[in-house]
Amino acid sequence: MTTILIKNAEIVTMNRKSEIITGDILIENDRITAIGPDLDPAQVDKIIDATNRTVIPGFVQTHIHLCQTLFRGKGDDLELMDWLKKRIWPLEASHDEESIYYSALLGIGELIQSGTTTIVDMETVHHTDFAFQAIASSGIRALSGKVMMDKGDEVPYALREKTADSLQQSVDLLEKWHGYDDGRIQYAFSPRFVISCTEELLREVRSLSEQYQVKVHTHASENLGEIEIVQAETGMRNVVYLDHLGLANERLILAHCIWLDEEEKRIIHERGVHVSHCPGSNLKLASGIAETPEMLKMDISVSLGADGAPCNNNLDMFNEMRLAALIQKPIHGPTAMNAQTVFRMATIGGARAVGMEKEIGSIEVGKKADLAILDLVNFHTYPSFDVDPISRIVYSATRADVETTIINGRIVMENRIMRTIDKDIVLPEANRSIQRLLKRSNLR
Ligand SMILES: [Zn+2]
Repeated sequence: MTTILIKNAEIVTMNRKSEIITGDILIENDRITAIGPDLDPAQVDKIIDATNRTVIPGFVQTHIHLCQTLFRGKGDDLELMDWLKKRIWPLEASHDEESIYYSALLGIGELIQSGTTTIVDMETVHHTDFAFQAIASSGIRALSGKVMMDKGDEVPYALREKTADSLQQSVDLLEKWHGYDDGRIQYAFSPRFVISCTEELLREVRSLSEQYQVKVHTHASENLGEIEIVQAETGMRNVVYLDHLGLANERLILAHCIWLDEEEKRIIHERGVHVSHCPGSNLKLASGIAETPEMLKMDISVSLGADGAPCNNNLDMFNEMRLAALIQKPIHGPTAMNAQTVFRMATIGGARAVGMEKEIGSIEVGKKADLAILDLVNFHTYPSFDVDPISRIVYSATRADVETTIINGRIVMENRIMRTIDKDIVLPEANRSIQRLLKRSNLR
């Protein structure tokens, strides 16, 4: 058994009472087994002195594309459909096993360094096994799946798949990876969006997700042009169509949901669908601003995600939290989205979306030890006297303030040093890989 004792920390628990306490955290193997002042267990393997440090639950990002991390800076200043057709699909079509692997490690390195401990990840059509290998070795908690696209205009040849192949490959990956490392890795069916998928595929995904009890992760109502296409093809709006196919339920995670009408909001609320809000991506792709204050008022499950590196261009939850709060204020007033609400979306809200609110998302005895230790003793985070710690985290802190990250009881970054990913290998390999993909896709 490995035991870690974190001593003398300011602990932002995000428990039911949202308590912020000063004390110690005992971690035994993968779980938090005690929280309190002056814990003095007989024997510990490691003591972390967290005096003047703030411990928070690890962030849960509910919409990420690790396979796109290599495309950072390659899709700037475009709208969604152009961004997909001109840049992202040709680059995804050019991926090989090695490039998928290093794209994932590059992204996970950034995520761990900025305090994210759980992700919901959408890969590309091929080579997803190599993303899972990177997830497995890095120690991050993830729900991931190969993207499914058996239909669509201007889709490169290498991304076109037959319905049966798409389903079979998804099930093969699920059977190999779902439940890996005591459930640290889970599979999620990942149809890209309605435009990319036949009705047959989506109906089959619905029954497979029920059969295996796994999540379905897709995009919806991100862009007005997208909605027009969906309406022309199906006669329905996105969420109405997904509901019509039986997909709208508590296993569905929908990224974006910017342009919902009243009926769609009602469906999302009644069926318990989870919304992943991606403010950075939504602004950069000029998609729009989701009505998150209204959704939260309706008690819709809303969490946060950075989306992919080429539409953000960071995978940094501090950035997303800040944007999620600020973008609502000019429209709905200064109190429309406060720091506490945003921090909740980034932690326990994300845990709710992935169906793990009893396991992660807060610092409580019995929960998995997924947490980040912040050093908020700095010019940009002071004064600290009489300032709400959550205000300091959401409005002042940056990812550079994350000092140590623990996932599933394992220290994956300590004092800014990555323990599971070798930066000196991953950075040059990322450059080599993107060079290869640009050549193959004729984008350079
Ligand atoms: Zn996305």
